[in-house]
This record gives sequence, structure tokens and C-alpha cells, in this order.
Amino acid sequence: MNSQNVPAFRQSISSSMGCENCYRLTQIDGVKFPSGPEADRGVDIHAILAPYARHCAQHHVPADFAYLDSLCDAVGDEAFTILENCRDNLTIDWQNFFEAEIHFGMDEDFRPTFSYDHDGKKVEVDPVWGIEGSGREPAYCGILDVLYVMPGGRVAKAPDYKSHNRPFPADTDQGKLYTLAVLMHLPELQECEFSLRFVRYANVVTAHKYTRQDVPALMAAMKRKRAQQEQIHHKVETGEPLRVHGGPHCSYCPCILNPDRYPCPIEPLNPSINRTPAEWLSTKLVLDTMKWVADNTLKQTADQTREPIRSQDANGKWYIYQPEEREVVTAWLFEEDGKGGFDMPIVNALLDWANENSSDLVPRRGSKPWFCNLKIGWSKLHSYLKSNKREIIHNRIRDLATIEKRIQYKITKDAEIDDGPVDESYSEEGEETEF
Ligand code: SF4
Repeated sequence: MNSQNVPAFRQSISSSMGCENCYRLTQIDGVKFPSGPEADRGVDIHAILAPYARHCAQHHVPADFAYLDSLCDAVGDEAFTILENCRDNLTIDWQNFFEAEIHFGMDEDFRPTFSYDHDGKKVEVDPVWGIEGSGREPAYCGILDVLYVMPGGRVAKAPDYKSHNRPFPADTDQGKLYTLAVLMHLPELQECEFSLRFVRYANVVTAHKYTRQDVPALMAAMKRKRAQQEQIHHKVETGEPLRVHGGPHCSYCPCILNPDRYPCPIEPLNPSINRTPAEWLSTKLVLDTMKWVADNTLKQTADQTREPIRSQDANGKWYIYQPEEREVVTAWLFEEDGKGGFDMPIVNALLDWANENSSDLVPRRGSKPWFCNLKIGWSKLHSYLKSNKREIIHNRIRDLATIEKRIQYKITKDAEIDDGPVDESYSEEGEETEF
């Protein structure tokens, strides 16, 4: 397979490679998936953040809300709301600003070269890199949202803005590709941190740091992706069967939008095709209700009959619903000492253990001593602390506690029709919060 005929590997291609049929349709047959609200939202946000970062750097300020507002006037409602919510956390490190929206290309040997934009237009090596390109066809392309280079030119930070609902770790193919590109374009650089900034949320950032020692491993990872890409082209040329695999990439596959013209080879089994997202939500509501009804019915029946409930599958295997004794251990934090004060027997026992077995508290590399993982559940504590008369201790404990934002999906239900104008909600993971 002549790799010249294979388009440069880039982040947007990476996701379609999850299914070889999706890749063939979008990257070889050229079927364009029309832009959707998510893509428009991402484009809107990026169109604002690059000029905003440049403006802040030129004016030597970490933020300029008036200017951000003026840029936001032209974007869609959703992008506007996201940017409005996150603007307090959108700080630009103007002192170390290198450039925003920087195109990069690397040839098969990872030497910097020209690149192509998303429309296939050739983009020469950006002068900001201060290097000449190899002039060879790019095998890898991308656009860095923003790059900061610290004084001395040995450490860089490459944040990438994401408008996704659900944050994810930064150790992605994109992170590897972008970090490798930065290290190959700036030869003096020794370390680069790639981070994902989830702009929907205040201060939700995931990051991964790479050093120059990681370059061989990064190159190997990118070569594997390139080989995988070439393999798909080879299979299409020779008519070999393609590996079809459903997943998040189905959302961007032409088979979803036009199944009559581009039938998905695994359609009968593909959850993305046999139900719409709204139907899956509806299905989940039905199944959640059925589970609730089943749990209650089983419990009531077993309580009444005091007999196990049995069911046998086609293999002859029995499933039995019956009560089972379970040990519940509660470690009380305080005990009255009989003199008007309190003892902490569990804590004292733990401290005694630590004194006598200090080697057990030596942390493993990269972790904390296991004592530092012990915590008190916030729900119980908060049920007492929320009283007005305990405001001072409440605030004191919140100052001492670790408070972090966790993102979880939940279904909200508009209860206006049957319960009055309030929102009811429940979350998938329950309401328990820990500190
Ligand atoms: S819809 Fe079918 S062909 Fe398209 S990505 Fe999903 S599994 Fe692959």
C-alpha cells in the first residue's frame, strides 16, 4: 500500500477508525456526515477561544470578559451558555503564550512538514515554529488549540478545549499526537503537558505529562495508528472483509443517518441503529421502573411465603431469590467516656497500630499511606452539620474537607403536570457524596 494515498492521520480520523466500515465510508468513499449540533458547538467554541487567547496575550491580561462577550455575540446559544458559565475559569497564561490554533504536520519520519486543514487545503509550516519543513507529504496532522512555552523554552503546556458532557483522561491518541508534534517542532523542549479543559464545568481539567524520553514510545504509538490506517486502505483495495464494530463512533457514521443507502453490516445487533437515543432513554425509564417493580414484588412475595423463589434457565441452571444474612460492620467515631467527654476508640486503635507497625504505613510508589484513604461519609455528617446553630463547625469542616466536582449523568423529570412546578431528579449513582 502506497502511504502517499492514505490521508494524514489526525484526531478526527482516529475516532472513525474504531469501525473499518465507518472509516471506509468517511475517509475513502468521501461520504460526508452533515454537521450536527455537537460539532457546531465545538466549532463555535474554538472559533472564539483562539482569538480570545491571542487578545489576552497581546494585552497582557489573563482575562477580558468584555472582549469575550463581544466574540460570543456571533455564536450559537449552546456555545454561548457554555462560555458564559466557564469564563471565570478561562484564564490565559499571557506571559507564556506561544500561539493559538497552530497547524502542524509531520511526515512519515516525524519531521515537521506542511499540513492540511479540515477541508483538505494545504497549510504551510507556521512561521511561529521557527523551522523549515521537510517538504514531504504529511502523515500526521493536527491543530493545537493553544500552546504555552515556559521561560527557558524547556517546558510547554498544550491545553485542548473540549465541550464534551463527560470528562475523560488526557492520555488519548490526540494527546500523544499533539505532544509528539510539539516536541518535534521545538527541539529544545524537554517536557510537554497535554491537558483537556472541559469548558462546560468549572475547573474540570485532565492532564498527562510527557518528556523527551517518551518520544520513541509516542512515535511507536503513532506508527501503530498509521499502520492500522494503511491496513484498512489495503483491505478496501483487495476486497478483504472489514472489521465492523459498534461504539461511540457510530454517532458520526453515515449508516446512522442514511441506513437505506449505507446499511450498517451489523444493523440488527447495533444499538445505535435499532433505537434512537430518545428511544433508548425511554427504554431505560421502562427498565428502571420494571426493576423497581420486580425488586418489590420479589421481596413482598418472599416475605409473605417465607419460601425461596426459583427459576431455571434452558441449561438447567437454577437461580434462587432468598434472604441471606449479611454482616454489617459500623465503626463509630466517638464513644462517651463516662466522664462527660468522648473517646475515639477506633482512631486510637489505628494510631496504636501505626506506632507499632510503621512499615505498614510506608506508601507504595505513587500512592499515599493507606491511612490517608480513610474518610467519613458526608451524607451522615452533613445531616447534623446543616443545622443553623452548627454553621461555624460546618464551614470549618468544609474548609478541611476535599471538595471535588464529579460529573455524572442523571435524568431530570419535569414534574409540572402531576406534582406542581418543581423539578424532580434522580441520579444514576445515588446522592451519596464522600469527602
Ligand atoms: S453504524 Fe455500523 S458501520 Fe457505522 S460505525 Fe457503527 S457499526 Fe460501524
